[in-house]
Amino acid sequence: MINVTRPFLPPLAEYQQYIADIWDRNWLTNNGPLVKELEAQLRAYLNTEKLLFLSNGTIALQIAIKALDLQGEIITTPFSYVATTSSIVWENCTPVFVDIDKESFNIDPKLIEASITDKTSAILATHVYGNPCDIDAIATIAEKHNLKVIYDAAHCFGTLYKGKSVFEYGDVSTTSFHATKLFHTTEGGAVVAKDSAILTCMERMRNFGHAGPDKFKGIGINGKNSEMHAAMGLANMKYVDHILAKRELDHKLYDQRLEALQLQKPKIDDKATFNYAYYAVVFRTTEECIKVFKALADNEIGARRYFYPVLSSLDYVDPQTMPVAEDIAQRVLCLPLYEQLTEDDIEKICTVILKTLN
Ligand SMILES: *Cc1c(COP(=O)(O)O)cnc(C)c1O
Repeated sequence: MINVTRPFLPPLAEYQQYIADIWDRNWLTNNGPLVKELEAQLRAYLNTEKLLFLSNGTIALQIAIKALDLQGEIITTPFSYVATTSSIVWENCTPVFVDIDKESFNIDPKLIEASITDKTSAILATHVYGNPCDIDAIATIAEKHNLKVIYDAAHCFGTLYKGKSVFEYGDVSTTSFHATKLFHTTEGGAVVAKDSAILTCMERMRNFGHAGPDKFKGIGINGKNSEMHAAMGLANMKYVDHILAKRELDHKLYDQRLEALQLQKPKIDDKATFNYAYYAVVFRTTEECIKVFKALADNEIGARRYFYPVLSSLDYVDPQTMPVAEDIAQRVLCLPLYEQLTEDDIEKICTVILKTLN
């Protein structure tokens, strides 16, 4: 079986060393030394100062919305993982969907202004597959209409935009270190804030609102992460450069093998350094997409209709028609991509696809 993804696992002994140290210290959670060390390493690696390690990427989104005190309507993308929309609704705000650009698959800034009302408080956009949004255009609109900007940067580990970490853009960027992501801590996530006061607020929020042992300031939740999760992150950090390089190679192999099909792929912003987080291809028709998906499954190869369905079709949002997102979601597949994937695996996957479409 070739899965669509497999978590990277560091050498067991290296993880066990961290675990043995945790046993010695008997300090399991509540901002322990490994959490602090991982945060320091992430800040250095990602070149971003104001980062907090959290329990997952969904809590990161919820804390970001709460810390920015967003109300009313939030403009967002229909083409993302469900957590982007569910977090908005969970925080009692209303998602207002704006369709995506047909080349980048990110929210289309040209369509945003028409959806702004006097209830709009923010834009929450996803950098789809690790490909940054049109950040400059979004910033211009946000400034003009006094809106906050949150980026769901769950796919963006290591992505640079105009030479800076992509996490540095917007009021808050959130990310996920879930086991399926390029860099992971089993479960985990992070927020990066532009403003120090917002960062401090989010730091309290992840710890029940504690402002001291017997002092609370504002509402909080439990968004902390544990020493065991930080240990996985620290063990994986050593291999991040290798993981990134391997994914780039895999992308090139897929590109070569599938070249004859001339399939559409997301257009990567030329101001970005892409992290090759996903290998997404768009087939000409839904039928072709489903046919390939089934042929791969028959050959014990997993692919993922990602993202599918569009978030504007969720049963807890007002139905809105999103022609471009619906069209892309019907035709897109993410192909297997993970560290242990071999050249032979890619050969086999591409052979099945080529045979199915010829
Ligand atoms: C993975 C992912 C999330 C959710 O992150 P978790 O850590 O699993 O909660 C949110 N948004 C996007 C775009 C994701 O890919």
